[in-house]
Amino acid sequence: MNIIDIMQASQNSSKAQYCSFTGKISNILNRHEAWYYSCKGCNKKVDKTIYDKCQNCQKNNEDSIPRYLVKIIVEDETDSARVTTF
Ligand SMILES: [Zn+2]
Repeated sequence: MNIIDIMQASQNSSKAQYCSFTGKISNILNRHEAWYYSCKGCNKKVDKTIYDKCQNCQKNNEDSIPRYLVKIIVEDETDSARVTTF
C-alpha cells in the first residue's frame, strides 16, 4: 500500500488494521529520548521521577523495564505520516 491509501482508509474507518508499505524515514521526532519505562506487572507506562509505585497496579517502579518508543516521520512518493513504533 501507499501512505496516502493508508491515511484515507484510517479516516474512513475506526477499526484498527494492519498495513505494510515501503517508505523512507525523513525524521526522528524524539531522538534524544526514544524510550519509556513500563511496569513489570501490568506493562503500563510509569513515571519513575514522580511515583515510587505504578499508578495502575501499585507494583514498585524500581522493577520497571525500559522499552523503545520511537516517533518518526515516514514518506513515500504519495504522502508522509507520523508513525510511533514500540
Ligand atoms: Zn503496573
